[in-house]
Amino acid sequence: GTALIAELYKPPALLPIAQLKDALLYTIETYPVTIIVGETGSGKTTQIPQYLHKAGWTADGSVIAVTQQPRRVAATTVAARVAEEVGCQLGQDVGYSIRFEDVSSAATRIKFLTDGLLLREMLVDPLLKRYSVIMIDEAHERSLSSDILLGLLKKVLRKRPELRVVVSSATLDAKDFLDFFCPVDGEKINGKSKEEYGRIISIEGRMHPVDINYLIEPVSDYVERAVETVMDIHNNEPDGDVLLFLPGREDIDDAIDMIADRITDLAPGTQRLQPLPLYAGLPSDQQLYVFQAAPENTRKAIVSTNIAEASVTIENIVHVIDCGYVKLRAYDPTTGIERLATVPVSKASATQRAGRAGRTKPGKCYRLYTEAAYNAFSDSTPPEIQRSNLAPTILQLMNLGIPNIVRFDYFSNPPSELVVRAMDMLFSLGAISPEAKLTKPLGTRMAELPLSPMLAKALLNAQTFGCLYEMLHIAALLTLSGTAFIAHDGNLKQLDKVKRKFAVEEGDHITLLNVYEAFITTGRKDAQWCRSNFLNYKAMQKAVSVRNQLARHLEKLGISVSSDLSAQRAGGIFSLSPSERIRRCLTTGFFAHAARMKPDGTFQTANGETTLWAHPTSVLFHRKADWVIYDEIMESKGKVFVREVTKIEMDWLVEYAPEYYRVKQR
Ligand code: ADP
Ligand code: MG
Repeated sequence: GTALIAELYKPPALLPIAQLKDALLYTIETYPVTIIVGETGSGKTTQIPQYLHKAGWTADGSVIAVTQQPRRVAATTVAARVAEEVGCQLGQDVGYSIRFEDVSSAATRIKFLTDGLLLREMLVDPLLKRYSVIMIDEAHERSLSSDILLGLLKKVLRKRPELRVVVSSATLDAKDFLDFFCPVDGEKINGKSKEEYGRIISIEGRMHPVDINYLIEPVSDYVERAVETVMDIHNNEPDGDVLLFLPGREDIDDAIDMIADRITDLAPGTQRLQPLPLYAGLPSDQQLYVFQAAPENTRKAIVSTNIAEASVTIENIVHVIDCGYVKLRAYDPTTGIERLATVPVSKASATQRAGRAGRTKPGKCYRLYTEAAYNAFSDSTPPEIQRSNLAPTILQLMNLGIPNIVRFDYFSNPPSELVVRAMDMLFSLGAISPEAKLTKPLGTRMAELPLSPMLAKALLNAQTFGCLYEMLHIAALLTLSGTAFIAHDGNLKQLDKVKRKFAVEEGDHITLLNVYEAFITTGRKDAQWCRSNFLNYKAMQKAVSVRNQLARHLEKLGISVSSDLSAQRAGGIFSLSPSERIRRCLTTGFFAHAARMKPDGTFQTANGETTLWAHPTSVLFHRKADWVIYDEIMESKGKVFVREVTKIEMDWLVEYAPEYYRVKQR
């Protein structure tokens, strides 16, 4: 594989950024802040860190950090690519770090990491002293963590005038980023005026024209239509790979299956078609195919989420199909429900998607919507800070010692109702006091665990319920969000049968516990056992690793995992069954995710406003229940599902979250 990959890519010296190398190094040397603007694929992510490394920015042992969106694929593939160019093993000079997976070492000088992880590093190293340069990549995507990082770095720069901040952006928001960092007219920061503080560098794009096609009539089933378009292109266009944008993994799996079905009808001897998926959770061995050249006489059809819009570059794309939708984090402060919602893309996004077709030569973009629909799209996507549950972020900011959350220097301010709602939630969880101070030890410990506040709270409570061991297993599997089971439409019936081996009537969490224990005793040495139980062997191995990392985190916080001799204790809480103790413990964290089953089998949230369905992979699917708590909400084919659902009792909600449920009743 390696030789083949190398062949396909432009030598770095030919990338558009190469011409700007000297100017770039001069600017970074001279000014604290550099904003770099350039088309996707111009070499910002892969080349800038290498230039800096060679120019001596790491000579004293410092590290160059490059933050990636919270997307596994982006950090891992880019790091792998740069390690290859540098000629080192991944984890040596070049490494990456994402949640629960650190592939870096003392030798690492260029480190790709998620923006969320860099935020976490500030807990131990508030001025980020290990780093000489910090590059916030794809800042225009305005992820919640990268927005927060911008605000924090602005503060760090005042205390560390020698630090260099590079902000990369694919669009023309460059001036906003510069203005945010620089002193206003007449003011100085560390003796530097506005003109002395930062610069914008633009890489000239060399884009080929892209011919845009709209539909005359809207379609109802964009997956079906997308597949037809792929086949039309394949049958009528002489060459060029296809890139199809769909909102999420489910649609992608469906489209791949449908394309695979139709391939069998292709006339023998004609060019072959190879459908390939690309999404954030894709295992790394499968990611590779996307970047490799197709075999001879074969056209690639890459079916991707938004990730191929700007985060990763794929060469040789000539045809782009844009379904017009994207999955975005959406938060409703009145119901407190956060989910990934499928919504229309923005004009900026549609333009960026079309641009993917014009990198190698003139291309074509097929928009699966009408021109009128396009005209109704918003200009750009609202930043994540305006549509997210802010509880995890506020908890982190407080733990970083930010004295007043409302007056923090946000790149753009969050709506006050989201801040209020997050504070309420943190208060109900016991993480902050009525005076809005972080509680000790609970609040600080919650902030330090790399888990959602709800899961962190349940795990930190586990010792009092005598179920720390069990909760560690459950927490590890919850972080994999549903990847432990190999589930797709075609195997749900069989999966259900197999799952019953592990299933308990109380619901999914204890079922997951049984799965984990069976894996440890049997499956770990037996990949075949995993396959026959529809368990994803790699995901289960990952769960074991995550579990051990969480145990180490707890030990660091002074919570002894090994001395949890719950089974030998008696009396009090220990007179309850293990199952009840675990479910009560979960309730102390997930009380806000409570719902009640109605006679028709759907669930109503505690505030009665949303109808939810048990996900088909849940052991409570088509089963009777009363009150439950759930881990996650997901949307699929227009329905809202809850995943990882467990039966609880209403009394527990009142017992463990009196504040929250008193507020609710008012
Ligand atoms: P930018 O950050 O400006 O969008 P990149 O530095 O990501 O550009 O990409 C520069 C070049 O490196 C592109 O030609 C791209 O095809 C290649 N490249 C980027 N990522 C990978 C990867 N994971 N594997 C192989 N080649 C890659
Ligand atoms: Mg990039």
